[in-house]
Amino acid sequence: MTAIRGATTIPEDSAEEIKKAVKELLEQITSRNNLKQDEILSLVFSNTKDIRSYYPSKAAREAGFESCSLFSAQEPDIDGGLKLCIRVMMFVERNLTPQHVYLRGARMLRKDLADKINIAIDGPAGSGKSTVAKALARDYRILYLDTGAMYRACALKVLKAGVSVEDEAGIVDLMKDVRLDVSYRDGEQRTLLDGVDVSEEIREPSVSMAASTVSKYPSVRMHMTEKQREIAAKMSCVLDGRDIGTFVLPEADFKFYLTATPEVRARRRYDELRAKGFDVNYEELLSGLLRRDEQDSTRKLAPLKKADDAIEIDTSDMTVQEVLTVIRAKIQEVI
Ligand code: C5P
Repeated sequence: MTAIRGATTIPEDSAEEIKKAVKELLEQITSRNNLKQDEILSLVFSNTKDIRSYYPSKAAREAGFESCSLFSAQEPDIDGGLKLCIRVMMFVERNLTPQHVYLRGARMLRKDLADKINIAIDGPAGSGKSTVAKALARDYRILYLDTGAMYRACALKVLKAGVSVEDEAGIVDLMKDVRLDVSYRDGEQRTLLDGVDVSEEIREPSVSMAASTVSKYPSVRMHMTEKQREIAAKMSCVLDGRDIGTFVLPEADFKFYLTATPEVRARRRYDELRAKGFDVNYEELLSGLLRRDEQDSTRKLAPLKKADDAIEIDTSDMTVQEVLTVIRAKIQEVI
């Protein structure tokens, strides 16, 4: 006897989506394993708690899988688990080497079976990129790479060395022996500058503007771009930044471009920095943010820009959950 595993996700909880997804999953499992329907002994389904509209086993029967025994059960609600997911275990009489099948969002569950996936999330400061990127990475259990943190670390190095951010030659010189690494602790990115963890220090508002200036120099950009491409070539990840979809990874599998009005973005930054204990002023943050937008979108190399094939989402009046719902649905439409 052989047990074959499969899983898929649906964009929303409706009977129609469940029927469609179950039919597709079972057809894929049978065709990839060269099975005839009468070889199937039983189908055991489980589904996440957010699926309530229809029994997957009933959908299987309606899809023509009638001669085997069918069963559906609900899974426990696990924090960070994949949403709207249907899993199946198919038991067949014959002994064979099983080809397990993971479709749509469930491809993320078996990264050993799925191809590598890179998701690019670009947009200006405060558009909600990092919150959304972190949540997606958690959902799909892939890496989150905050590319802004890398530019911030370069800026911190420049500020600490007492070099002017306008001194391009001095900065190029300084960058020759910079050691910049990212590592992960408890799922959070830590940014290491010359071996020292500077993850908190780089969030200082003074570093933001310096990062924007330093990041316009081609040699700094190319150095960071190389590192980002290296990481993305090795593993599935969500990268947030300004130029991921246009320059760093023009071939990314998914591209999103988040925007919001400057006032909303400044308010978000204000709340975020206040919560971290920084003494900040809303008006100053707003004007800094506008200057940064201007500088980031007018630099010559890899400016802040929406890629032609990126999906743009204006997050001004949306909650994080709403933005995530839109993005997840777009991703699940394709995979
Ligand atoms: O996203 P964050 O605010 O941390 O980025 C800090 C600065 O780093 C940005 O203002 C931008 O100038 C620069 N940056 C960039 N390209 C990226 C990410 C950040 O130029 N991919």
